[in-house]
Amino acid sequence: MTRAVGVDERLLGTYVEELGRIGEAPGHGLFRFQYDAAWQQARDQLLQWIGEAGLEARVDAVGNVFGRLPGRSDRVVLTGSHVDTVPSGGRYDGALGVVGGLAALAALREHGTPERTLEVVALCEEESSRFTGNFFGTRAMLGLIEPDEPDRLVDADGITLAEAMRQVGLDPAAIATARRSDLDAFLELHIEQGRVLADERVDVGLVEVIPAITWQTVTVRGQQDHAGATPMDLRRDAFQAAAEMARRITRLVEGEGRPAVLTTGRWEVEPGLPSIVPGLARFSVDLRHPDEQVRDRLLAEVDRTCAEVAGQHRVQVEVVRDKHEEAATMDAGLLAVLRDAVDSCGVSSRSMPSGAGHDSQLMATRVPTAMLFVPSVEGRSHSPAEFTELADCVRGASVLATALHRLAFDPGT
Ligand SMILES: [Zn+2]
Repeated sequence: MTRAVGVDERLLGTYVEELGRIGEAPGHGLFRFQYDAAWQQARDQLLQWIGEAGLEARVDAVGNVFGRLPGRSDRVVLTGSHVDTVPSGGRYDGALGVVGGLAALAALREHGTPERTLEVVALCEEESSRFTGNFFGTRAMLGLIEPDEPDRLVDADGITLAEAMRQVGLDPAAIATARRSDLDAFLELHIEQGRVLADERVDVGLVEVIPAITWQTVTVRGQQDHAGATPMDLRRDAFQAAAEMARRITRLVEGEGRPAVLTTGRWEVEPGLPSIVPGLARFSVDLRHPDEQVRDRLLAEVDRTCAEVAGQHRVQVEVVRDKHEEAATMDAGLLAVLRDAVDSCGVSSRSMPSGAGHDSQLMATRVPTAMLFVPSVEGRSHSPAEFTELADCVRGASVLATALHRLAFDPGT
């Protein structure tokens, strides 16, 4: 069995606590967005910790922060996660994978020189809270940033991504140098952001697949009329039709059961006045399932249901597909290494799909990748209420350290 590598509980606790205060508005959670003041403070703090842990510190062309433990080979086993947050976010989403990886490398440094090089990364951006270019850090490493993105993407204040980069000392013209071709593996530690592990009292989740996500916009066109003068039986109320569509497609996915999920989170009604029968209603559909075939079957049923309801209400419906991602399968060899590490550390585990999207889904398209989850109390996430017990953070980071030890120090086994 692989030897277990434990991480320093006090060190990890300090990292979580201190990084958690950077960008925090007391009572309202964290606001740490790509290249803003809190982000810069977090970068500087991480660089300091990386130096204190005896690792080589480096910032790449887009602001991804690395700590490196050089091995005999230049091939790299990478761990980490993102350092940015959603607005009013929590202390653990992304951050735990960064500081957990840092604590793991700090522990592994005591083991001498590894065969393969180990690196931890704080990815500069995942949540698209400031610019709509999500997975920016990972995309830079994989060479997937479009040449026009830095000048095209603009934040709420009208600042381009290129300007924001220059303000923090980064050169948009150098983005291509962030690309990596030396990665052998990527492991991401993350909080579950759901309540399966907490409810089942399981220590660690081994992610097998990150689900296929589809976003659609459903636009319903009826007839705008006077709310007093138009009898109910003569109306073609766009909102009433849209509401029935939303209810019926939600019931459809409820009937399918877990892990299928559907959300109609964004609504627009025109003209949006109390005295006018709505002529137009538009809503978003977010549909996810780890099995692409099931997702696609549900999508076909969603489209059929919307068309049927439109006919009954004598309105027109148009469904536009905004995003249609493929499911990302985690690497079987790395999952076996993680299972071994779980056994060595004496913790309980279960296999599971991820609910949320993660950097790992993109990384997995180019580099063998695996993810492990630790419990989120009450499943709360993307909220100031996000919390994971320190003991759970330590268990997750120790499984990570044990797996990294095997991959970097005993790559042949
Ligand atoms: Zn995250």
